[in-house]
Amino acid sequence: MKEPGFGTRCVHAGEGHNPYGAHATPIYQTSTYVFDNAEQAAEIFSGASGYRYIRSAPNTPTHAAFIEKICSLEGGEAGLAFSSGMAAEIALVLSMLKKGDHLLSTNIIYGGTFGLFSSLMTKFGIEVSFVDTTNEEIIRRGLQENTKMIFLESPANPTMAISDISLIGKIARDAGAILAVDNTFATPYFQRPLCLGADVVVESCTKYIGGHGDLLGGVAVAGREIIQKMKRPAVLAGGTMGTHEAWLCLRGLKTLHLRMERHAKNAMQLAQFLHSHPRVSRVNYPGLASHPQHALASRQMSGWGGMLSFEVKGGIDAGQRLMNSLKLCSLAVSLGSVDTLVEHPASMTHAVMPREMRESLGISDGLVRVSVGIEDEEDILQDFAEGLEKI
Ligand SMILES: *Cc1c(COP(=O)(O)O)cnc(C)c1O
Repeated sequence: MKEPGFGTRCVHAGEGHNPYGAHATPIYQTSTYVFDNAEQAAEIFSGASGYRYIRSAPNTPTHAAFIEKICSLEGGEAGLAFSSGMAAEIALVLSMLKKGDHLLSTNIIYGGTFGLFSSLMTKFGIEVSFVDTTNEEIIRRGLQENTKMIFLESPANPTMAISDISLIGKIARDAGAILAVDNTFATPYFQRPLCLGADVVVESCTKYIGGHGDLLGGVAVAGREIIQKMKRPAVLAGGTMGTHEAWLCLRGLKTLHLRMERHAKNAMQLAQFLHSHPRVSRVNYPGLASHPQHALASRQMSGWGGMLSFEVKGGIDAGQRLMNSLKLCSLAVSLGSVDTLVEHPASMTHAVMPREMRESLGISDGLVRVSVGIEDEEDILQDFAEGLEKI
């Protein structure tokens, strides 16, 4: 039988292994497991597959169903579920890098990831450099003898810069490094980095995977070898996903395809509206022909997602007046929820980044980021139209 389509896999992958014929995957709310006998316990503790304790993967059958579903969607062999996107990233760097290694990271990046790489990892003797990964020449020049990992975020937060995943995958392989991609913004619905040549994908489930703004979670998906390497740091760092969260992610993914279609459709309408608005000087959305990597985005993504950012004329004051006058949209960080959220990167998500760095990356003081929700598009546009009138 041919592989079912993406939407069918959202609904069905990982489901159906339930006792008593339960239609929905149960929440296995247990922290430990009872063994049949001492011999079986010894086998499992010496490496045989099986459940033993909730912090060790496979954590519970609920987690296993979620991992099977996300692996099917990302096109990966194996995965691990974490308490947050940051916990997934920490397990990734602890498993792949050691003192003296070099990490080449994209420079436009989630604020938390920037903090982890720039202040925590360097404390452990890992060298990190942040470079413009939209430029091949700069990436090649940034490589060092000891480069062990390249880390990308594409589309990147908050400017929506796009990096060429297959090209950088080749560059990484030639240099003996692995390529890791944060796929939080695109989700596997619009982009599958593993199929493009990345070695490992990390994602914050807090965003589109959960999809309703009501949980914290993270996931890593890769080939078996990398996930095997990540298991030990994952178990020892202790950032395991909770069982209820695993169930919510499993449930959220069942509608990922429908939600992402609507997020993207609304985002495109809002991007076009803002693009032609006299009080807006710039709109960053990969779906607009004016986006500098629009052609690349069309090649490596099957759609452009629900995130955009834009600059209002009048800088920070105008931006704050706009955010204060929106009625339907909420002023909040995070993204990927069913409702529309706006935030101000320079004073909120990217405040950890030095100002000169922000400015040089296009994260100006007037930049407003929008996570476009799945409301009716005319209501979202009206809210922005009225808000822009007031600035
Ligand atoms: C939110 C986010 C993270 C971190 O995820 P948490 O679940 O908040 O720990 C990492 N990368 C990107 C792109 C994000 O948006």
